[in-house]
Amino acid sequence: MTDTQYQYIDGDWRDGDSTDETTVHDPAAPEEVVAAFPPATRAQATEAVSAAASAAESWGETTPDEREALLYEAADRIEEDLDALAETLTREEGKPVSSSRAEVGRAAELFRFMASYARTTTGETVPSSDPETFTYTVREPLGVVALVTPWNFPVATPSWKLAAALVTGNAVVFKPSSETPTVAKRLVEILDDAGVPDGVVNLVVGPGSTVGDEVTTNEAVDGISFTGSTTVGQHIAEAVAARGIPVQTEMGGKNPQVVLPDADIEDAADAAVSGAFGLTGQACTATSRLIVHEDVADELVSAVGARAESLSVGPGMDDPDMGPAVSADQDETNFEYVDVARDEGATLLTGGGRPEGLESGYFIEPTVFTDVDSGMRIAQEEVFGPVLAVMEVSGFEEAVRVANDVDFGLSASVFTADMTRSRAFARQVEAGVVKINGTTTGSQIQMPFGGMKASSSETKKEMGQRAYEFYTHEKAVYRTDP
Ligand code: NAD
Repeated sequence: MTDTQYQYIDGDWRDGDSTDETTVHDPAAPEEVVAAFPPATRAQATEAVSAAASAAESWGETTPDEREALLYEAADRIEEDLDALAETLTREEGKPVSSSRAEVGRAAELFRFMASYARTTTGETVPSSDPETFTYTVREPLGVVALVTPWNFPVATPSWKLAAALVTGNAVVFKPSSETPTVAKRLVEILDDAGVPDGVVNLVVGPGSTVGDEVTTNEAVDGISFTGSTTVGQHIAEAVAARGIPVQTEMGGKNPQVVLPDADIEDAADAAVSGAFGLTGQACTATSRLIVHEDVADELVSAVGARAESLSVGPGMDDPDMGPAVSADQDETNFEYVDVARDEGATLLTGGGRPEGLESGYFIEPTVFTDVDSGMRIAQEEVFGPVLAVMEVSGFEEAVRVANDVDFGLSASVFTADMTRSRAFARQVEAGVVKINGTTTGSQIQMPFGGMKASSSETKKEMGQRAYEFYTHEKAVYRTDP
């Protein structure tokens, strides 16, 4: 394979047939091109779906032992490649290299975790009302699944989808973000080297409007797992609704951290800063609203401001606290929202500009706005950058009301010493992930992951046991012996 062959169809590495060129720039030094290749065409995406459809049956009939062994092998190979993969990730996406290393390590962990399901998860036997009939359930693979992913966790997100799809016996068409194609290519090379049969995993890299559209709407596709923006996720779900296939959409967030007067303010400030500025705010679970009780607002705001100002910002390869935005578009969005918040009357506490000496990359200072109210765009819209909106409230009920006053419902956290209050928060807050005295970001792979409202198709969670359920059909079998 050459450096321009980003398409993997039916066991062959190929160039894209498009006459365009996709180029990826280092977000810390945009004059440097880190990848350049012709993207796939719609016809190649169709071919990839056909290859998966041809491979699905025999892959679905492999033994759990074979699938388990393959996933463990993939995990070992991901770990062997950890340094190189982490560096590629940082050069494409920009995150600090220690975060990239952690992400690659997590990908290996995800393959091992899902491998453990190969031999342990099955259907159930159910007491039968008829003594002549044995009643039980089985789980069968869906067949061909399309995996469509964003750029912000470009190794971990595909890994949790790929591992779950493969362990349950599905063939895959993987369509990654064009911002982070090289890590996707490397991940698929690793799966190939680990022994995935031809056609079982196919990779097509190209525009969402053609390649993404084809892999999601092609009638040979039996299930879709999508992570990305709410606009695209809802579009995909609507486009295939009539077919009734399982569709999982993990989308945007506007995640609140609530701080009550009895909270440990130092811990709350640490969490807010890590949740808002870790990964440059480019996590779907990033903290973007800090909802604080007026009695402790001054103390918390000054602690958050001081911490934000002390963060180091720089190229991901230097391993700073915060790297650049992923792309010129996201960079523009970040600065646009600084203007929007200012124009709406919010007060800029800190940040809002390009850090000194970093004028050439997509860098922005960690930014905190105070005096934000729920009607402002900065309190409602996902920025996907390191911009934190602080909102003051006068009581618990108001805090929950404000927390819920958005379209999204992915992650939410509360800081309090009162465990009764924290349980009430967990019950009342409209979010799929709830943290008590913890940051809105981060999750454990054995826990189900997903949101509510405009953040997710709620009934289809990822990770944990739910992953196994999503990628399989459940059949109820009635066996009456002759
Ligand atoms: P995006 O929606 O622009 O793209 C996601 C993927 O969808 C890409 O591979 C893209 O090419 C593809 N796509 C675009 N149009 C398509 C179409 N018409 N049909 C099929 N596929 C299409 O998102 P992004 O900018 O890559 O990622 C950022 C977004 O992802 C943010 O909104 C963030 O909140 C969200 N996100 C959510 C989660 C979660 O688990 N909830 C996790 C990470 C990121």
